[in-house]
Amino acid sequence: MSEVLVAGGGIGGLAAAFTQARAGHRVRLLERAQEFGEVGAGLQLGPNATRLLAGWGLLDRVIAAGVLPERLVFRDALTGEELTDLPLGEDFQDRYGAPYVVVHRSDLHGILLEACRAAGVDLVRGTGVERVETRGERATAYCAGGAVHDGDVVIAADGLQSGLRGQLVADEPLDSGFIAHRGTCPLPDDFDTTEVVAWFGPDCHFVQYALRGGKLLNQVAVFRRGRDLDSAYEGCCEQVQKGLPYLWRDRNWPMLDREPARTWVRGRLALLGDAAHPMLQYLAQGACQALEDAHELAAQAAGGDWDRALAAYQEIRAPRTARVQATARLWGDIWHVDGVGRILRNELFQTRDRSSYVYTDWLYGETTVTTRSAAADSTATASAVRR
Ligand SMILES: Cc1cc2nc3c(=O)[nH]c(=O)nc-3n(C[C@H](O)[C@H](O)[C@H](O)COP(=O)(O)OP(=O)(O)OC[C@H]3O[C@@H](n4cnc5c(N)ncnc54)[C@H](O)[C@@H]3O)c2cc1C
Repeated sequence: MSEVLVAGGGIGGLAAAFTQARAGHRVRLLERAQEFGEVGAGLQLGPNATRLLAGWGLLDRVIAAGVLPERLVFRDALTGEELTDLPLGEDFQDRYGAPYVVVHRSDLHGILLEACRAAGVDLVRGTGVERVETRGERATAYCAGGAVHDGDVVIAADGLQSGLRGQLVADEPLDSGFIAHRGTCPLPDDFDTTEVVAWFGPDCHFVQYALRGGKLLNQVAVFRRGRDLDSAYEGCCEQVQKGLPYLWRDRNWPMLDREPARTWVRGRLALLGDAAHPMLQYLAQGACQALEDAHELAAQAAGGDWDRALAAYQEIRAPRTARVQATARLWGDIWHVDGVGRILRNELFQTRDRSSYVYTDWLYGETTVTTRSAAADSTATASAVRR
């Protein structure tokens, strides 16, 4: 049995702590905040993430707390016309082996927290990890206030502004120039709870979906900084305008990411979640990728050989998440165009074969490492590392 330390109790850190505890390791999670919790509203979970939650025995709880939408719909924010959609029904679920789920992030966080407690994770609050020293087969976490914790490995899941990432990569978050306003409100009568809708406008987009069994409406408005919320959506269709009063005005989130990092591991310190691969959220994949990280690291570490496991984890996860980061940026560029670009985008989307999975297989599909069993993962990666 190894001793695993996790720095950070967001969705990524909790998933890592849970999967390590489930694999039989002794796990201590150190969270800087005085309370565990999540700020924000909804989360979309693609089948690449819900497949993992199913394997961990948590998907039923997530579905019970959330909504199973039937369609992902893309619309032009100026005219309101539908551009294309992705049906999320039986064919989609058969293809990817799991459903598309939308859930309040505090509900998912709560389910993971409870799962950690049940799995025996030692959950420590009010303890920020300032620095990690790794020596041979051990790692030491030095915390604010003087506490020191030792383990076989430290998993740094301290988020987009990760301080621990600085021990491996010399970079800073990059500002895309866009900001997000979020908000939830009681679901209006005329809102179709079966759809996740993304409206594309010049220098802006707007996302809407129902949460908590259809009781809440979740909205995210993303637009280029420099305008206020109302002027950013001037000229947009009535359905978009109607949603604006329900957004929280007192807080917004800058849309930040970083260049993909090739180095995720140094000695017995490994990055995970946003600390490893912060991304623009246009593919709705930040948390999904954190769950993939947690799964992969636990699968690789099952044999107890941490040096091999960490090398394989980096080798498998870094290229995969780099592709998601790069595609999310590109996706944003496509969503936010105006003029002739907008005309071409709309034409391309409207003439796309709606039964095709060509744009989603790489992300959700069974070609990804997340569908292989832990045993198969270890064997395949061990031979890849040997080659
Ligand atoms: C507008 C918006 C919409 C999004 N929508 C989606 C979506 O639909 N689907 C999706 O999959 N993702 C989405 N995401 C992304 C997702 O929210 C993040 O990728 C995910 O929450 C990252 O989790 P994390 O645990 O890696 O980091 P965080 O959630 O940032 O957690 C980090 C934790 O570490 C703690 N911490 C920080 N420093 C220290 C330290 N030194 N020591 C100890 N603890 C520390 C923090 O207090 C925090 O609890 C969205 C993000 C935004 C901004």
